[in-house]
Amino acid sequence: MSLALKNIVKSFGATAVLKGVDLEVGKGELVALLGPSGSGKTTLLKIIAGLEWPDSGMLEVDGENWFDLPARRRQTGFVFQHYALFPHMSVRENIAFGLRVRPRGLRPARAKIQARVGELLKFLQIPHLADRYPGQLSGGQRQRVALGRALAINPKLLLLDEPFGALDAAIRRDLRRWLRQVHEATGSTTVFVTHDQEEAFELADRVVVMSEGRIEQIGPADVIADRPATPFVARFMGATV
Ligand code: ADP
Repeated sequence: MSLALKNIVKSFGATAVLKGVDLEVGKGELVALLGPSGSGKTTLLKIIAGLEWPDSGMLEVDGENWFDLPARRRQTGFVFQHYALFPHMSVRENIAFGLRVRPRGLRPARAKIQARVGELLKFLQIPHLADRYPGQLSGGQRQRVALGRALAINPKLLLLDEPFGALDAAIRRDLRRWLRQVHEATGSTTVFVTHDQEEAFELADRVVVMSEGRIEQIGPADVIADRPATPFVARFMGATV
């Protein structure tokens, strides 16, 4: 699905967090929201997810008002940095969860759920972990399972908030490569939040640089690196290269 955010404004009390954000994301595109801590990235992602409400502005999905669409039509998958798996459920049960809790009518039959989970375990390269519990997995394996749970419903829109933030550098690199492959295989429109420039540049089709509730620049990585549009972007690139 394609997204169009128009003049999104959001404050928490006296703090203006988003000061008029305009952003279009094409169908099947992978976009990174990049910026320092506190720039409003997570709030913007939560608004797209329907977990926060903007004070004003529009969000259209395939030309329809997103805020009017019933949840069942949204088909959105989330992966958050600290979005814990259910510790008392096996990997297989965690991945199946998203399908089991679908509204009546959209919930597949038991055998279908099992087949889909089997397919995902293979796709995620973790069939050998199917019967383990989250406490028996490494951080990287847990994030694969979290992504499996998000992908179980075949989301048209996949939202990730610092999905690999808590992991060490080598595992982050592996997961990044793997996320790119997953993206190419599923074709979901994907928006992910990161404060890591390398991660944004390596993964995204386009990078959205944010600062203090505003978008400073949107473009492919090479354009942002070679031709920063504002003094902030130039400083930010220089500071973190
Ligand atoms: P980022 O993801 O770029 O770090 P956030 O969107 O998390 O930025 O936060 C932007 C600003 O909004 C921060 O100053 C943060 O303290 C504030 N903020 C975020 N969520 C809330 C909330 N629920 N209540 C009050 N302030 C919030």
